Amino acid sequence: MRQAIVAALAMLGLVGSAAEAEQLCPGQAVPAIDGRLLGHLQYGEARADELVAAPAGFAIGAACRVRREVAADLARMLAAAEGQPGLKGRVRAISCYRTIAHQRRVFCSQIGKGRRSRDAADRARWVGPPGFSEHATGYAIDFGTRPSPGCGDVSACFARTPAGRWLLQHAPEYGFELSFPQGNAQGVSWEPWHWRWVGASAQVPGAAAARTLFARARLSYPALPSTPDSGLRVLMPPAMTGIGTPPPPGPPLRLRP
Ligand SMILES: [Zn+2]
Repeated sequence: MRQAIVAALAMLGLVGSAAEAEQLCPGQAVPAIDGRLLGHLQYGEARADELVAAPAGFAIGAACRVRREVAADLARMLAAAEGQPGLKGRVRAISCYRTIAHQRRVFCSQIGKGRRSRDAADRARWVGPPGFSEHATGYAIDFGTRPSPGCGDVSACFARTPAGRWLLQHAPEYGFELSFPQGNAQGVSWEPWHWRWVGASAQVPGAAAARTLFARARLSYPALPSTPDSGLRVLMPPAMTGIGTPPPPGPPLRLRP
């Protein structure tokens, strides 16, 4: 019955084909709906010649590659962070560009009994399915920090670390925006470590292409904090970041007029 419904929706162009659904992970067939898979938008893979190595010493583990257009802003941002008291060497990368094949390994390897996620839908709350991750574009970076006592990588507590707090305040100045803010309508968990580059303004070289690629995401599920020209900034509640003055009563996310 379910297969028949999926096939009917596919004919109407509302879901992906059954073949596409079967390719996610072994035993995890999920149809794409409205061009999204488990909430995540579809993205292609950057070519190797579009990528460059991130500054030396930035990656914690595997080498970090980003699109060429991202490199200058990333270098400037890291230099600015280095100059802050207590931040020298602290703003690091957990993961940057990932091929779709790599994304499949990351996504599928932690599904099942005794692993982090019980099924694909659960896994997709934290990780984009293969073919539906911003990491394949070369514009996205998962930031981390060292040392990081008591806070594992890609955890919400990153927002309370000196590196995470500094990024929340300053990354937009360098063209980065937080793809998955708290309470996002996309249904993805809050990821204070995952930033995508779109340029601080549309005039920055390469920004127009990045903004076109992320147009649907930015329109439907606005990043927060976002770039200075978007008008979307955020005051994080001090309980979350341990910094700043308490926001006035009301919802924790406040938009700048
Ligand atoms: Zn990420």
